[in-house]
Amino acid sequence: MYDVVVIGAGPAGASAALFTAKAGKKTLVVDNDKSVTKRAWLLNHYGVKDITGPDLVAIGKEQARSFGAEFVAATVTNISKTDNGVKVETDGEQYEAKHVIVATGMMADLAEKAGLNTKPGTEPRVKTILDVDTAGKTNVEGVWGAGTIAGVSMHTIITAGDGAKVAINVISEINGERYVDHDILKS
Ligand SMILES: Cc1cc2nc3c(=O)[nH]c(=O)nc-3n(C[C@H](O)[C@H](O)[C@H](O)COP(=O)(O)OP(=O)(O)OC[C@H]3O[C@@H](n4cnc5c(N)ncnc54)[C@H](O)[C@@H]3O)c2cc1C
Repeated sequence: MYDVVVIGAGPAGASAALFTAKAGKKTLVVDNDKSVTKRAWLLNHYGVKDITGPDLVAIGKEQARSFGAEFVAATVTNISKTDNGVKVETDGEQYEAKHVIVATGMMADLAEKAGLNTKPGTEPRVKTILDVDTAGKTNVEGVWGAGTIAGVSMHTIITAGDGAKVAINVISEINGERYVDHDILKS
């Protein structure tokens, strides 16, 4: 049983996994390597002068992995509630978690298949998004949405930020108090 399974390893998903793994939560990321970010050349990602999309995605995964997040290259085919949590199925495997963060970018097929409430997108070129509340919660308990699929503006600094926001809400729910992740510069 994982504490958190993240579906999608683009800026939103990997940023979420970085926070949950760094908070000591048993974290699995399942991704089928179709991130649109890999076509980007980023000049507007705050704090990084310029970086290619492929490099940003690769560094993000490495950051999460460095804190213990596990990665599986697969396509998630369904998500369903269980007595103890949420089941995530891929073509051949199944995993169970207390919480699942859906960060599938522009792809809403899984959300629709899993019976998650969706609505028309409001950002350019984004057809369908998850209907989430301000914390990132979907209509299914234990299932959250982050990034482009959750309707935020389709920019890496914003989708990565939304992944972090939702991760902190998930960690805070698990811990039963608000969570803060601050490291201090060694003097
Ligand atoms: C050509 C182009 C140029 C861009 N330029 C910029 C720019 O200059 N500046 C900027 O800020 N942003 C830019 N963007 C936008 C930015 O790259 C992304 O839109 C944004 O960061 C998306 O992040 P995300 O994590 O929500 O989605 P994505 O990065 O798309 O990640 C979603 C991940 O989910 C995975 N996934 C989906 N469904 C499943 C499933 N069922 N099972 C397993 N895995 C699944 C996909 O494989 C993918 O890896 C650009 C986008 C494009 C296309």
